[in-house]
Amino acid sequence: MPDTAHRLKNISESVIREMTRVAERYEGINLSQGFPDFDPPPELILAAERALREGHNQYAITWGSPRFRQALARKQSHFMGFPIDPERNVTVTCGSTEAIVASVMAVCNPGDKIAIFSPFYENYAPAIAFSGGKTVYIHLEPPDFIFDFDELQRIFKQGLKALILCNPANPSGKVFKLKELEMIAALAQEYDTFVITDEVYEHIIYPPNQHVYIASLPGMFERTISCSSLSKTYSITGWRLGYVIASPQISDEVRKVHDFLTVGAPAPLQEAAVTALDFPISYYQQIQHEYSRRKEIFLGYLRDAGLQFTEPHGAYYVMVDISAFVKNRNTRVGFANDSEFCLWMAKEIGVVGVPGSSFFYEPVNTLIRLNFAKTNETLAAAGERLLRLGQIF
Ligand code: GLN
Repeated sequence: MPDTAHRLKNISESVIREMTRVAERYEGINLSQGFPDFDPPPELILAAERALREGHNQYAITWGSPRFRQALARKQSHFMGFPIDPERNVTVTCGSTEAIVASVMAVCNPGDKIAIFSPFYENYAPAIAFSGGKTVYIHLEPPDFIFDFDELQRIFKQGLKALILCNPANPSGKVFKLKELEMIAALAQEYDTFVITDEVYEHIIYPPNQHVYIASLPGMFERTISCSSLSKTYSITGWRLGYVIASPQISDEVRKVHDFLTVGAPAPLQEAAVTALDFPISYYQQIQHEYSRRKEIFLGYLRDAGLQFTEPHGAYYVMVDISAFVKNRNTRVGFANDSEFCLWMAKEIGVVGVPGSSFFYEPVNTLIRLNFAKTNETLAAAGERLLRLGQIF
């Protein structure tokens, strides 16, 4: 057999999606992969039916159907606070996953260094590996996930092609403060570095925290490649609608990757999603309110179970501290690591989370990630089961 590609050797299967299969195997409540267990707004289902019936069944323009790009540009101009040209600044992709891979491929040459914050969402290092780049990690210190400015500056100084910024952050729930974003922006300009964002949780934010788009800071639009998607905002993770907003020069390069990789995102769903993008501003206030409520309910159950956690400021995950269950130098009882704990929890407690170690570069194995984008019933059932954790140990 000839050799397969070396650049894929260090990439392992997604732990998040593996845990979804574990949930199915043990019929556990799946709080691992981040997706809602409730339906999108009913208007969207109707719009999708209509789009299929009304003939939107062939390829759309490769970088996105005009109606979708126009609606997206209107909505994002409002929230991002600067004008977005649907013709020159927008590329529609198959989810934010493709948006990020296409963006990294558009800027990265073999051997280029690209930085990500650790803990990180698991797609970034593979995206960098696909492009022959080298991942550099910036430590976020739990429980508050703060970075050290001197370390950040040292990393920029080494010569970075890009920094990937997930904000609000998966898995930590960190929302970068304006001051932090200004520090990153200043370094990006000083050391001539791109910033590639992943802002899929832009509307899932817990007041008084506020989301600031780094592209909106002075001097940043030209060097920021803003990636996001409709998945989380409208509860349509399966529709695979993402996008890249960038300068015309960068958009041209991103479009080359996108064109030859996927041709285009699903045409009927782009058509249907115009309905979502045209929702009034009150929709975004409403989802913020609903997610705040889900967070409060779920964190309440975690407190009742006696669990420690970091309260998220945004996104829909919570990192729960399981150090009491994991063996360490002082205690000889307990699980060897977070993965063992998660498998046991799936089997014996009936709740499935993601081992935190899959998000960390550092050897951290005392955290697990739980997703609370779930109905009241699911949250209550999971909460009830998690109570048993407190009783067992
Ligand atoms: N972003 C979601 C998560 O972190 C879904 C991951 C995926 O499977 N694409 O769980």
